[in-house]
Amino acid sequence: MSNADQDGWSRVKDRLRAEVGDDVYSSWFARMDLEGIEDGTVRLSVATRFLKSWIQSHYAERVLACWQAQDPKVSRIELTVRSAVLRSAVPSKTKPEAGIGPGNDGNGRLGANHSAVGHNNRPVMIGEAGAHEALGGSPLDGRLTFDNFVVGRSNTLAHAAAKQVAIAKRDDPVMFNPLYIHAGVGLGKTHLLQAITWAGNSAGERKVLYLTAEKFMYGFVQSLRAQNTLAFKDALRGIGVLVIDDMQFLQGKTTQAEFCHTLNALIDAGRQVVIASDRPPADLESLDERVRSRLAGGLVVEMGALGEELRLEILKARVLAARAHHPSFDVPLPVLSYIAKTVTHNGRDLEGALNRLLAHNKLTGHPVTLEMAEREVRDLIRPQEPKRVKIEDIQRIVARQYNVSRSDLLSSRRTANVVRPRQVAMYLAKTLTLRSLPEIGRRFGGRDHTTVLHAVRKIEGLVGNDIALAEEIETLKRQLQE
Ligand code: ADP
Ligand code: MG
Repeated sequence: MSNADQDGWSRVKDRLRAEVGDDVYSSWFARMDLEGIEDGTVRLSVATRFLKSWIQSHYAERVLACWQAQDPKVSRIELTVRSAVLRSAVPSKTKPEAGIGPGNDGNGRLGANHSAVGHNNRPVMIGEAGAHEALGGSPLDGRLTFDNFVVGRSNTLAHAAAKQVAIAKRDDPVMFNPLYIHAGVGLGKTHLLQAITWAGNSAGERKVLYLTAEKFMYGFVQSLRAQNTLAFKDALRGIGVLVIDDMQFLQGKTTQAEFCHTLNALIDAGRQVVIASDRPPADLESLDERVRSRLAGGLVVEMGALGEELRLEILKARVLAARAHHPSFDVPLPVLSYIAKTVTHNGRDLEGALNRLLAHNKLTGHPVTLEMAEREVRDLIRPQEPKRVKIEDIQRIVARQYNVSRSDLLSSRRTANVVRPRQVAMYLAKTLTLRSLPEIGRRFGGRDHTTVLHAVRKIEGLVGNDIALAEEIETLKRQLQE
């Protein structure tokens, strides 16, 4: 590693410290080391698995952003545990530490205790994971099984569909293809997808290949390209179910063309395809219209936020799992209820909260009390996540407000009574969603992005002077975010 790299790293650390403050910095980052930089991947190491998981689940994007501010070529951060080198001397095929990064599956799996559950209680999985990796699949986490997936109101349908896919036999007719699951961060997409993979592969009926979009782009497609068509067909024949995680990251014209080709070939051959993404097919920008409609043509299921009851059940299951390795780890019900009530963000934060209690309990020997929990998870309690606003909802609510129809908003009519509502709706779409201008244009009857930009500027200009309009827009926003 060059001195320039080390200099860069110390500037990144300064930036990080300035952004998160001294306290947070010294708690989590003080002993993080730079191991190397290669092809846009920065390898960092920390001393414990706990630190790794904590940084992964809370600061991965921050760290990446700080690197990118310093060096735009950096596209990925890989975190490892320093002592992992020693541990991996124990023969193991699964290498749980390998390649976990924000750009990879985005899921820094937490806690030695949990990996150990996978390895000790389910030794059979090691062989299976080996076979799966030999196929070119992404690393799997032994904990993400159906057994460990808690079903509640927000995920019943997704779970049932996933289960159905997992138990289907080789020659069963395919019920829905592809199965497309979408949900926000940390709501269990990867968990369900890996559960399908474990279950399918251990039943041995159909080979299930799990790939992150990144792996699909940089491994699978390339290896297929290097082979001839016959080998390609052969490879596909071997796969009963193709599972693709984080579809939203699948980018680039060539990759998408390959994806389209693979998707069509598999579906036409009666193979199951399962996809997860953070948004519905209609919102996958820059995706070829044919692929989009193919995706929407199967079963599309959304998983909603985890309700309080579900959060509590997940916590209980987690404590049970942890106790398999830390029998003295006892979390009283009021503490679990408190966490379920206050840590509302997503499954990853719930996991983080419990890991903190466990770490605290192990390190200090103090029992877990409500008081300790309040102290430990304080910074995990975030203000209510703003609701994911959908463009359809914006169109519906704006149409209702101005007494026009939704199709008026999408139409090319230019009469004043529809032009203004349409502009308001586009403005709201830009300010309340993460959709790009071209995407918004497309969703408003196939308009050009310059039209959307014009609308946004127009409304921005007006609300500065027109108090009535400004209030009207505030009301609409409130209705949408409720
Ligand atoms: P996503 O891929 O949607 O971002 P993950 O599948 O990685 O989310 O889930 C984040 C964490 O929350 C994981 O540790 C996962 O096991 C846990 N989790 C989410 N939903 C559930 C659930 N229904 N039951 C058990 N654990 C869950
Ligand atoms: Mg995921």
